Amino acid sequence: MKLCRFDDRLGLVTGDRVLDVTAALDALPAYRYPFPHGDLMIENLPALAASIAAAAGTAKAYALADLKLLSPIANPGKVVAAPVNYKKHLEEAQADPEIHHQNKVAEIQRVGLFLKATSSVVGPGEGIVIRHPERRTDHEIELAAVIGTRADRVSREDAMRHIAGYCIGLDITVRGPEERSLRKSIDSYTVLGPYFITADEVGDPSALDLHLTVNGETRQRANTRDLIIGIADLIVFASSFYTLMPGDVLLTGTPEGVGPIVPGDTVEATIADVGDMRVAVR
Ligand code: MN
Repeated sequence: MKLCRFDDRLGLVTGDRVLDVTAALDALPAYRYPFPHGDLMIENLPALAASIAAAAGTAKAYALADLKLLSPIANPGKVVAAPVNYKKHLEEAQADPEIHHQNKVAEIQRVGLFLKATSSVVGPGEGIVIRHPERRTDHEIELAAVIGTRADRVSREDAMRHIAGYCIGLDITVRGPEERSLRKSIDSYTVLGPYFITADEVGDPSALDLHLTVNGETRQRANTRDLIIGIADLIVFASSFYTLMPGDVLLTGTPEGVGPIVPGDTVEATIADVGDMRVAVR
C-alpha cells in the first residue's frame, strides 16, 4: 500500500492515480488535548487498512502528477538520522574542507546518531527554501524507514519487524562548523516523499538503488547494500538510547556525491521499489 498526503487529505496511490481515502481517517480513535505524541495514522495503520480499502471503492481520483504532495508522515515524533553511513561519503567528507569545516568527521560507530527537528519536515510539493544563501547547502538522498511499532532496546532479529514502511528522504544540510542538528533542522530541510510505501511492497531494503540528480545531472548514485551500519543495526543502536515510536522516521545516511543546491534548482530523487520525486529549491 502506498499512501500520500495532499491538501491535508489522505491518498491511496495506485499507479499514477491517487484515490482520496480521507474518509478512512474517521476510523481513528477520537483524541483530545493533550494529544498523544507521534503519528496516529501510522500507529493505527493495521486497523485503518480495511477502512482505506472501503473508502477507495467510492473515492474521487486524481492524477498523482497534479498533486502538491505533503510529507506522507504528518506528525513524526522524532527524525533520527545517521551521519556518514556510507564509506565513500566518509572519505569525501574527510577530504573536503567545505564539507567537514574542521569538524572531526569520524565513523558512525563513534559519532552515533543525531536528531533533526520535526519542524523541518516537508513534502516534495512544498519544496526546499534555502535559508542562508551565502553558505553552501547540500543535498543528501537517504532511504527513510518509518517505525510502525514501539521499539525499545530491540534485538537485531526483531528490528526489521518494527518498520511500517519507507519513503525517500532528503537530508538537506547547510555546511559549517555548527552541530549537525542545527544545520540540518532548518524549515524544509527534511523532505519526505513522494509517498509512504508499506514494507511488504519493498523487496530487500538493504539492496536498493538510490539516484539523485540536480537539474538533470547525476550527483549521487549508490545502493543501500553499501551502508556501513545496516537498517536493522541502526534500529538496534537507536532503540538502545531511546524508544522509537510509530511514525518516527529513521534517515539511514547518504552516499557519496553530495553537492550544493541553490534557488532555482530542481532535485529529482529516486529509490528503487520506493518511488521518485521532484523537489524545487527556492
Ligand atoms: Mn544525512
